[in-house]
Amino acid sequence: MRIAGEAVTSSRKQQVALPFDGSPVGTIFQATAEQVDAAVAAAKAAAPIMREMPAFERAAILRKAHEKLMSRLDEFGKAISSESGKPIKEGRLEADRAAWTLLFSAEEANRLCGEVVPMEASPAGKGHMAMTVREPLGVIAAITPFNFPLNLSMHKIGPAIAGGNTVVHKPASSTPISGILLAELLAECGLPKGALNVITGPGGSIGEQLVFHKDVAMVTFTGSVEVGLRLRNLAGMKRVTLELGNNAAVIVEDDANLDEAVPRCVAGAFAHSGQVCISVQRIFVQERIRAAFVERMVEHTKKLRVGHPHEASTDISSLITEKEAQRVESWIGEALEHGAKLMTGGKRTRATMEPAVLTDVPANVQLACREAFGPVAFVNSYSTLDDAIAKVNDSDYGLQAGIYTRDIQKAFQTARKVHVGGFMINEIPQYRVDHMPYGGVKMSGVGREGPKYAVEEMTEPKLICWKV
Ligand code: NAP
Repeated sequence: MRIAGEAVTSSRKQQVALPFDGSPVGTIFQATAEQVDAAVAAAKAAAPIMREMPAFERAAILRKAHEKLMSRLDEFGKAISSESGKPIKEGRLEADRAAWTLLFSAEEANRLCGEVVPMEASPAGKGHMAMTVREPLGVIAAITPFNFPLNLSMHKIGPAIAGGNTVVHKPASSTPISGILLAELLAECGLPKGALNVITGPGGSIGEQLVFHKDVAMVTFTGSVEVGLRLRNLAGMKRVTLELGNNAAVIVEDDANLDEAVPRCVAGAFAHSGQVCISVQRIFVQERIRAAFVERMVEHTKKLRVGHPHEASTDISSLITEKEAQRVESWIGEALEHGAKLMTGGKRTRATMEPAVLTDVPANVQLACREAFGPVAFVNSYSTLDDAIAKVNDSDYGLQAGIYTRDIQKAFQTARKVHVGGFMINEIPQYRVDHMPYGGVKMSGVGREGPKYAVEEMTEPKLICWKV
């Protein structure tokens, strides 16, 4: 762990293993309750230093970290792949994205500004002027999931530092290494001691202690709906942002360019074995092109190479645990019992599952109405576009969705009617660049990430008014 700039251990060791075969990757230590308090105390002690640090210095630290990370993409990519089990090419891509998130955060540090308030719009405001300035919140607790251990941590830590805050980071227990490497990287780039602390251990104990802590001003959480809801209820008056689950849907109209739509749907469904919060899970295809779409989707899916995550040619590797793979397998089984058809894949070996494509999945089975978070997508057909929009909206979630069509009018009408945080036209809902506003409606969460938007959540406007 990293507390107040020091490497810290405890008497409770925990092994980190490669999810593909269980081979050891590293050893971490579970924080004690005293160490959680010490991490918050260190962040609190560093808060005045970060608050007083001019924006250009905060930006310079983040920019330097961007450059250093760019020069170490292979090393970080390997660490990501080893702890999360994602294919090495995806690990490297995540490291590259995280470096960009740092750069975008650096730019936002220099853009933080308030506004002039038109006081004289009110008779009582006559002779008064006012402006707002944005101030840091103080200590931010960042709790992150296993699926993007570096970039999703960066989406919290980069903007927090840009806004002049300090952080206590609790990474997922299965993927703690990237977070520790990130803290070391930022320390090398001049981040003051205590500005970023990393504690590891079970979310149910140390995570909750962190969320309860009276000196924590904000909780920024990415993870499951169940945990997110619980944390929101525990957080009391603290500011909370939640980036939660989804069962992303895409509509494919009969005028769509299938040469583009099919390979993108395959990529969007199976990257990181579907363990992406915006993974393509529900594909609604106009009934006239359904047969052609399914045939091509199966053909493309069969080309994906399943294997060890460290092999350069691997497209699909394991899920995070065998238990998760068994869960996905049972959801496929339930769908098949209720009339769905398996077109390809679905075979499981320990934690690894061949990418599965189903058709005719009824709306009431788990695969349709919950988040699969595994290498499985289904193709159902529809007759009218309104019918398709209703199917997309028939979800507890609302992170991102999309449509493939050549008709711009239909595309924008659909964009207006689908209830999500982000809508993609001629692109899959799994599409994200790291500076765009990103977040969900309904059970998918509250608040937005993307450095510009996260910095806003992580600072507050202070009004300064004077009588002239
Ligand atoms: P998770 O089980 O909710 O865990 C996320 C983090 O919360 C981990 O660090 C975990 O620690 C911690 N935690 C667990 N219980 C806690 C508690 N009671 N109090 C405080 N912290 C607690 O999620 P996951 O399985 O790692 O990630 C998968 C989920 O994340 C999916 O639902 C996915 O959709 C969502 N996700 C959303 C986004 C988005 O941007 N919307 C992005 C990526 C992932 P431990 O590991 O120690 O349990």
